[in-house]
Amino acid sequence: MDRKINHIGIAVKSIDDVLNFYEKDLGLEFQGYEIVEEQGVRVAFFKAGESRIELLEPLSENSPIAKFIAKKGEGMHHLALGSSDLKLDLSNLEKQGVRLIDKAPRNGAHHTKIAFLHPKSSKGVLVELTEE
Ligand code: ZN
Repeated sequence: MDRKINHIGIAVKSIDDVLNFYEKDLGLEFQGYEIVEEQGVRVAFFKAGESRIELLEPLSENSPIAKFIAKKGEGMHHLALGSSDLKLDLSNLEKQGVRLIDKAPRNGAHHTKIAFLHPKSSKGVLVELTEE
């Protein structure tokens, strides 16, 4: 299986505060903003080779990202790996005893289907699977 890193998600209080760092200082191509209501976030994407960096800014205090920042501070939030068949991957992972946060795919940014695996199964790293 050739599973690539689709993107790395980073939780920030304000995208505008760090935009210059990723775009100007690091020279990554800014690909725009998107609101993902389902997760209560505004996201900004930067192209990094075949992968992307996804900045996640909470839209409200109820957003899971706001809760993450309150608990752990700003920083790396999740690692997203590509999936060519998300439903199949989820059913296989469940059979293998991996704990899932999402048992079924849900909507992500850029018209993707996404699902999160539980960090208990990965020693603390929140893993997202992304189907383009
Ligand atoms: Zn993501």
